[in-house]
Amino acid sequence: MLGSPTRPTTAPATLTRPRSIRDLLHTGTPTFSFEFFPPKTPEGQRKLWRVIREIEALRPDFVSVTYGAGGGTRDRTVDITENMATDTTLLPVAHITAVNHSVRELRHLIGRFAGAGVTNMLAVRGDPPGDPMGEWIKHPEGVEYAEDLVRLIKESGDFSVGVAAFPYKHPRSVDVDSDVEYFVRKCRAGADYAITQMFFDADEYLRLRDRVAARGCDVPIIPEIMPVVKIATVEMSEKLSGAPFPPRLAAQFERVADDPEAVRQLGIEQASRLCERLLDEGVPGIHFITFNQSTATREIYQQVAPDRTAEAVGARP
Ligand code: FAD
Repeated sequence: MLGSPTRPTTAPATLTRPRSIRDLLHTGTPTFSFEFFPPKTPEGQRKLWRVIREIEALRPDFVSVTYGAGGGTRDRTVDITENMATDTTLLPVAHITAVNHSVRELRHLIGRFAGAGVTNMLAVRGDPPGDPMGEWIKHPEGVEYAEDLVRLIKESGDFSVGVAAFPYKHPRSVDVDSDVEYFVRKCRAGADYAITQMFFDADEYLRLRDRVAARGCDVPIIPEIMPVVKIATVEMSEKLSGAPFPPRLAAQFERVADDPEAVRQLGIEQASRLCERLLDEGVPGIHFITFNQSTATREIYQQVAPDRTAEAVGARP
């Protein structure tokens, strides 16, 4: 399927492209975007900025920075996102969570982002610090669900707001039906788009898209892709994605488990094929989890959007 001529064109991002994710998605051209997390150490910080500059050269449509459950990295998320908005050509999306925040603090955070020109946000509830499946305890003056966070951000100004979607259902959801019901509710609260949890089987994404469409909701759902670059990722996958790793794929990785380079090559090939299939199915974009490393995601991006990467490289001084 690589290089399929039926796929929609992947027009290059230029500085004249819209600066809101909502408007970008309305252009009908698939977006390509990358997710980073705030590092804990100065060395991690330096490495992150090297990677950000490498990704910037590829002129992605947008980038996003996750927001921690608490502690020191929260301020770093704000700093990194602000610096991306002011010191780079990137279009940053700030993740915001409801964990341990009062509504007042959330309003302050939204205002801080807005002050730095960050008008794109991803509203996620977040997980309890320490144990993601531990009891969720709402801040006494905070919000209960992502749906409430979407409303709060929308009431605060002209922001483009995304939400999380779960191809296999959220691990806390009782069943797929209630999961999709609540997903549609948060879309109707004002979400402009959604980004999924990572997954490895395109059919899971397509089933989610069908369930959402069957409820009359047309919010664009961007698939999130994480390439397997180490055998440990296969083992950790269930914890990371909330779903079992597809057994047929796991068997392929097991066959090369003793050869780290072969695992990495297989991971890149598998992720590229997944992206190709999703693009052929008309997804609104691809969001790559980078783990603050650019090499693997850059290789996949080059395979699935060769026209865009060639254009970006050609544009470099
Ligand atoms: P919600 O939409 O609030 O849903 C949580 C649970 O409650 C679900 O089971 C849902 O079905 C149920 N529910 C929702 N509304 C209702 C209702 N009205 N009544 C009853 N039940 C309801 N975490 C971080 O800490 N930082 C990040 O930066 C971050 N970024 C993420 C990015 C993406 C793309 C994704 C997919 C996840 C991200 N997460 C992040 C993880 C996310 O915070 C957790 O998965 C969290 O448990 C769920 O967040 P949510 O926004 O989907 O919550």
